[in-house]
Amino acid sequence: METRDWNEECAVVGVYNVQNAAVSAYYSLFSMQHRGQEATGIASSNGEKLNCIKNHGLVTSVFCDETLSKLKGFSAIGHNRYSTAGEDSMADAQPVFARYDLGEIAIVHNGNLTNAKQIRNELIAEGSIFQSHMDTENLIHLIARSKKEALIDRIKEAVLRVEGAFCFVILSRKKMFVIRDRHGFRPLSLGEIKNPDGSIGYIVASETCAFDLVGAKYVRDVKPGEMLVFSKEGMQSHSIMPANPYPCVFEYVYFARPDSHVFGRLVYNIRKAMGRELAKENPIDADLVIPVPDSGVAAALGYSQESGIPFELGIIRNHYVGRTFIEPTQQIRELKVKLKLNPIRELIENKRIIVIDDSVVRGTTSKQIVKILRDCGAKEIHMKISSPPTISPCYYGVDTPSVGELISARMSDEEVCKFIGADSLSFLSLEGLKRSIGVEDYKFCQACFDGNYIVEIKE
Ligand code: 5GP
Ligand code: SF4
Ligand code: MG
Repeated sequence: METRDWNEECAVVGVYNVQNAAVSAYYSLFSMQHRGQEATGIASSNGEKLNCIKNHGLVTSVFCDETLSKLKGFSAIGHNRYSTAGEDSMADAQPVFARYDLGEIAIVHNGNLTNAKQIRNELIAEGSIFQSHMDTENLIHLIARSKKEALIDRIKEAVLRVEGAFCFVILSRKKMFVIRDRHGFRPLSLGEIKNPDGSIGYIVASETCAFDLVGAKYVRDVKPGEMLVFSKEGMQSHSIMPANPYPCVFEYVYFARPDSHVFGRLVYNIRKAMGRELAKENPIDADLVIPVPDSGVAAALGYSQESGIPFELGIIRNHYVGRTFIEPTQQIRELKVKLKLNPIRELIENKRIIVIDDSVVRGTTSKQIVKILRDCGAKEIHMKISSPPTISPCYYGVDTPSVGELISARMSDEEVCKFIGADSLSFLSLEGLKRSIGVEDYKFCQACFDGNYIVEIKE
């Protein structure tokens, strides 16, 4: 597998002017665990000093009362990291923390910087020493080396040099800075927390499911090209780059939790609409519609409601197994599918089954699903995917494999169908995807489905 130097899909959070802000950051990260399970970390400030704790593992295993009690203060930022293959990933856990001439600073980042190599090479040529593989470290160097006096000006200068997908949350001793790139590839929402004394606290998070858990009220999304500055005077908004929004359509397909509002829309409704569109585009007679849990559930419900074919939970998921992408080798990936998904024979035997999943990447999951359903005596298996074929890798923050590993980049739909062993296979069309989202002026990044990259990748 291609090893990646950069951040993969992740979750970020920032909390400001809230008592024990680290605790709110902790619960937010817990609610966004699905966006990254490899490592997690929180940095907090009490106004005098930053403290940072990060480690491998899930949010609940890295943090406990004791660790959280070391993260005192009114502001905190946090990060969940997705997996990478074969890197020294402890050095790559976030927040990235540094001491420099203005004091202490911590940064979390969700996204990929497309000119990261170029900038890193320039910085190294000028004498910088790097401790991690993360593109995020570039930003710390750019900020530390800037000749500007005020931190806000240094951050602006640094951010204007980096390209690609980024949601940055930056913590200094007194302030918090939040920046979303001009295309707004990755989601980032702003919420308010009402403090017991009546004052207003703030939270920014990759997904709004975090707000529900900490009792925050959704205010709006951070705008593409916007910088928010939180200080004891409250919140200020600066437009620092001309916006040209291309949010990531894959958040709706797979990544976000269905109970989150992403780019202003409820993910659950969009996933169901994808299923309905799939049923309209690909009607077929069958006895049951079953989802590949959990990622296919909402679309399968939509498919069932549109087609009138009964929905059943024909495959049960074991939730205590990590996601199938986490292990790097193909062999272990296949074993993990079996560990994770078990069919209910009584539902499947002698039935014509429509199976719904959200996407096909390498084809591993679909192939295994078809096999376990055949072993249970399914009469027919019709695989239906609630997104178009994934034909191109993502350079904007989602951990899709290199092009050679994307099965639909190498094979026609018929060949993929044969490979996975299904009786039929169909994908949602690009038009169907657009209809599911249902906005008038559809303008989303969908490069992994159509190969059109809005931001060039500089190797
Ligand atoms: P495949 O088994 O074809 O390689 O991957 C498809 C399965 O992986 C689907 O069930 C889908 O829900 C899931 N999937 C799609 N994209 C991603 C991703 O970016 N990360 C992870 N962990 N899973 C994904
Ligand atoms: Fe999202 Fe795909 Fe665009 Fe990446 S290439 S940002 S996954 S739509
Ligand atoms: Mg899945």
